[in-house]
Amino acid sequence: MSDAPQRLQPTLSLHDSQRRATVPFEPINPEHVTVYYCGPTVYDLAHIGNLRAMLTADVLVRLLRHLYPRVTFVRNITDVDDKITARARANGEDIATLTQRTTQEFHADLAALGVLPPDIEPRATHNIGEMQAMIARLIDNGHAYEAEGHVLFSVGSFAAYGALSGRNPDELEAGARVEVAPYKKAAGDFVLWKPSDADQPGWDSPWGRGRPGWHIECSAMSHRYLGDSFDIHGGGSDLLFPHHENERAQSLCCFPGGRFANYWVHNAMLLVDGEKMSKSLGNFLTIRDVLAQAPAEALRLLLLGAQYRSTLNYTQAGLAEARRTLDRFYRALEAGGVTDAASAPVDAPMPSGVLEALADDLNTPKAIAELHALADAALAGSHEAAVALRQGAGLMGLLRASPGEWFRGAASEGDDVIDALIAERLAARKARDFARADALRDELQAKGIILEDTREGTSWRRA
Ligand SMILES: [Zn+2]
Repeated sequence: MSDAPQRLQPTLSLHDSQRRATVPFEPINPEHVTVYYCGPTVYDLAHIGNLRAMLTADVLVRLLRHLYPRVTFVRNITDVDDKITARARANGEDIATLTQRTTQEFHADLAALGVLPPDIEPRATHNIGEMQAMIARLIDNGHAYEAEGHVLFSVGSFAAYGALSGRNPDELEAGARVEVAPYKKAAGDFVLWKPSDADQPGWDSPWGRGRPGWHIECSAMSHRYLGDSFDIHGGGSDLLFPHHENERAQSLCCFPGGRFANYWVHNAMLLVDGEKMSKSLGNFLTIRDVLAQAPAEALRLLLLGAQYRSTLNYTQAGLAEARRTLDRFYRALEAGGVTDAASAPVDAPMPSGVLEALADDLNTPKAIAELHALADAALAGSHEAAVALRQGAGLMGLLRASPGEWFRGAASEGDDVIDALIAERLAARKARDFARADALRDELQAKGIILEDTREGTSWRRA
């Protein structure tokens, strides 16, 4: 044991959508915190709106890892969906080719942004058995019914339906303008399983050949890896209703002894030039569109510039400003003598101002203001401040390059991208997703990276 005094950790508080309040975070098991995020539906390149949820999760998980000894972060891949089927058909390619390519693009985009891979990344198509088991159980206990090859969840069977989003199912029904399918007993009932034509993806089931509804995927995958009750469930605010409301209904009715998620974290939407992003307005930006114009870290800083529950407005001017801020921070590192990884010890103390700001419901703008104060001191020559700047920025996944790399403009092509891909491959192997692990090995090989797996872990060298 070291003689160093135990540093006091701040208490983490989070805004819980269900309690509609910011509350202290109390994990089920402080030795092991569990987090589930809804991942992408893989049919196209990810856009910067998708990225906001992924970045919020990344900062949250980095902070949890700092505060707790063990964190398991699960984020799924939705690889069966009618949007995927339609896109594969339009492209004239098979579904597996489309979903595999899009998944790799998603991973590469997130790795460029310094978003750490999840510990477990289950795919929907690998969990059909779990979904069918849940659906059968919901039918058995009277929460679901079969009708014309469909299985529907009966919203009226669950008294707490609407408690998460605050919506009243009766109001929804009365206000519904969409035509209700004739096989539904009530307008709000939603699909757990639906029949597939011969040219649609499908699996044999007690209810005929078909495919799952979207909501049941997350209930099945979160249960498989995190159990009846876990700590935090997150996603964009657009998922609150109906997706999360429905996930919760299915899970609580299937596993009545559990609590499903104890805290619900939802990030607000992103605007581009003050407008909702849409293809018709011509302001639709993929992550790649932005990375073609600016370093990945500038995009990351820009998106962390607003607290996750505030609407964020993306502009070109904002991106340029983020880049100038990073120039300043890297100059400060240099001025304070932190020119490479070796000049700042990894176990240096975390600056308390940054930590407290993030522990206060992920107040990233306040944390960035703290970085500016540290940069002021570092620019005046303080080595201690420069070390603290690197530590604090690291907690938000910022200042990942050395000043030299940043100013050479090579920040996004560094070893960190390779390390992120290797970590992803490890996660895939842990999840027994060997096809994906092999695909990542091939991707690395294509970059001229040779992997060496040993008992101690994976090392790499350039070919
Ligand atoms: Zn989900």
